Amino acid sequence: MTTLPSMLRRWLKDTTSIEAPEESRADCLDCTMCTAHDWTSRHRGLRFHPDTRCCTYKPDLFNHQLGAMFAAPGEVSAHGLRTVRERLHHEEVSALGLLVPTEERAGYDRLVRAGRFGRSPSHRCPHLDPQGACGIWAHRNSVCSTWFCRHERGAYGEGFWVAIRELLGAVEKTLAVASAQAVLGPGPLELQRWQGSVEDFFIACHEHARSMSWQQIAHLAPPAFHGAIHMAELAWKVLRDTDSLPDAATVQPHDLVGIREGQALVLGYSDVDPVIIPAPLYERLSSFDGRPLSQVWEEIRQVLGPSLASPDHLRTLVDFDLIR
Ligand code: SF4
Ligand code: SF4
Repeated sequence: MTTLPSMLRRWLKDTTSIEAPEESRADCLDCTMCTAHDWTSRHRGLRFHPDTRCCTYKPDLFNHQLGAMFAAPGEVSAHGLRTVRERLHHEEVSALGLLVPTEERAGYDRLVRAGRFGRSPSHRCPHLDPQGACGIWAHRNSVCSTWFCRHERGAYGEGFWVAIRELLGAVEKTLAVASAQAVLGPGPLELQRWQGSVEDFFIACHEHARSMSWQQIAHLAPPAFHGAIHMAELAWKVLRDTDSLPDAATVQPHDLVGIREGQALVLGYSDVDPVIIPAPLYERLSSFDGRPLSQVWEEIRQVLGPSLASPDHLRTLVDFDLIR
């Protein structure tokens, strides 16, 4: 699943040559972490709570994102719009939008560290509707848009999306400041200076952000922006390269979830994205001891044959960081 909100998609297109790839192993319409029918569903550690999916997170929503929802309410669900309005009513709101206070965000970080991410109904995102769909999908932020439980290319996919998150996160914050400044005029960025309704203020911010070209945004951008673009391009290049392999490789720390019908379910780079490889191949992972990869792979191939040790299998071992 990959559908970036239109503003984020536009910035990515304007700033880079990147086309956001599909992550078909994460099916958000029928949440993979709640309803998978493969044998990963037997393992509780690989499941999220069906009431939360990965949405045990309350998003920051910047002024231009809020304005996009109020300008075109039909693009979000009734539940999404209602819960955004509730947050505006009950939470601290500034000219930059709805930003989750540091203390509350620290609580989220503790939840992640305790392994409760995706598993704590009391931390359910308010915008997740009762049917389990995101009520503000079309205008969700860069964090929500770039997180996937599973990646087609394992660790390379995760690295790519982290780089995109950094880039789009920098863009959405910079635009929030620029939009508030443009709408309020010279002076402090204080919402109290706006004479009309809060919703109209956010709509004005959205219209300003939408009208800005990349050249205008880049002009405002801190130097870190350009570094983020470079890193995103690099991650995109690595993601598309399915040929390169390390010269030498060593087995990496991993967890064996189970072995069934000749297949091993193994966790490498992530604790929720397991990979299935032939059990005999799994049993030979310790052969990767830093010697040249081609030599070790040839030895394994001689023993297991091409059906249990194919080029795709080797690619999987590298992509999912079982060997490096
Ligand atoms: S990214 Fe989230 S909603 Fe989508 S399939 Fe994974 S856990 Fe479910
Ligand atoms: S905004 Fe949407 S995608 Fe993000 S955590 Fe909430 S329900 Fe999930």
